[in-house]
Amino acid sequence: MEIHVEKFGGASVNSANAVQNVVKILKTQPSKTVVVVSAMGKTTNSLEKILNSFIATHTLNEEVLNALILYHKNIINDLFGNNYNKDYIMRLFDNIITMLFSYKEKDYDFLYDQIISFGELISSTIISQYLTFSGIKHRFIQAKDVIKTDNVFRSANVDWNLTTKKTDEIIVPALEEVDLILTQGFIGSTQNNLTTTLGREGSDYTAAILSYCLNAKDCTIWKDVSGVLNADPKRMTNTTKIDTLSYSEAIELSYYGATIIHPKTIKPLENRNIPLYVKSFLSPTNKGSMICNCKTQLPTSYIFKDNQVLLSIFPRDFSFIAEENISSIFAILAKHRIKVNLMQNSAISFSLCFDEDVNEKCFELLLNDLQKDYKVRYNCHLQLLTIRHYTQQSIDEQITGKKILIEQRSRTTAQYLLQEV
Ligand code: ASP
Ligand code: MG
Repeated sequence: MEIHVEKFGGASVNSANAVQNVVKILKTQPSKTVVVVSAMGKTTNSLEKILNSFIATHTLNEEVLNALILYHKNIINDLFGNNYNKDYIMRLFDNIITMLFSYKEKDYDFLYDQIISFGELISSTIISQYLTFSGIKHRFIQAKDVIKTDNVFRSANVDWNLTTKKTDEIIVPALEEVDLILTQGFIGSTQNNLTTTLGREGSDYTAAILSYCLNAKDCTIWKDVSGVLNADPKRMTNTTKIDTLSYSEAIELSYYGATIIHPKTIKPLENRNIPLYVKSFLSPTNKGSMICNCKTQLPTSYIFKDNQVLLSIFPRDFSFIAEENISSIFAILAKHRIKVNLMQNSAISFSLCFDEDVNEKCFELLLNDLQKDYKVRYNCHLQLLTIRHYTQQSIDEQITGKKILIEQRSRTTAQYLLQEV
């Protein structure tokens, strides 16, 4: 059976019109397609806000919750008309509240997954009902029943054997009966069936996992841009689309912070040589980009990461920065789940840069742990610029007038940690 996997992210389902557009695209797709959807628009951010204020104050952030409910209600009304029975979907919102109160004593990461996964549960329920409403036969499958993981909540690791077994048991027979399967991105579950999530923006990864397990013919990620561009069009004019690029180039770009694809997405596809298409849901007949096993000439690409913090660490005992120190520093970073974007050491200092958006409490705990053995200094609101396949001119154009805190260059990549002056 030739199976296609298609992923629609938050921006592609952020309004009734957008959902209708997705359905229109699906009508033109080849038969035997597995569709993975994200939460609508910025729902995941709102759910994070609700959770975090609940943790901080033990009360519901009614303002954000009500806005979120209203946002979905409006989409439902626009899709189905005012008379449509919304009870089933509204009950999902009640479940968020029940879960918050019943699990409030539990570990943060566990609670996070139970609450944040509602974004995808709600969007997929609405979309499934809309497919039925539009007369499109499909099977709605819960990702939780298929994507099996360990119990590292918020960043769960896939159990590939079990997930393959589940796709064979659940998805394959369903595809023998219907042409279209709908499921959620981002969500998995432990062996004991507790909900886990795969990390922010993890729906792309879900599409890749399913593609791998089903040995799909191809995998398509629908975006609001025309394909993989050489820079974020919100930050640069005159971007160029990269028509074809290799798996390894795509991994490098996403590793450095290009937000086009979740970094974990590529490897499972590469392992089975499944091409990944990145296409625009705004102009679905355009070609987009293809990521595959190939060698192509690549343009200079720019990746900007804002809100970086630079931490400089100095051993208190005047020892040098050597293997023992570095390994103790990394043990602390791993404990606090810090993902390092850039690092550099000298004889007596170790500097590293990571995203500022780790929550304040987590940052404080990280500093406390480091300060036991090290003197620590830090600097916030920095920008990390990565230029792949750089030229001297491309570098000059970007860094002139900025203060460079760290500079690193390899043959293919130049990186600058910059401060506005
Ligand atoms: N809704 C999740 C997020 O925004 C997963 C995804 O969209 O890929 O992080
Ligand atoms: Mg998203």
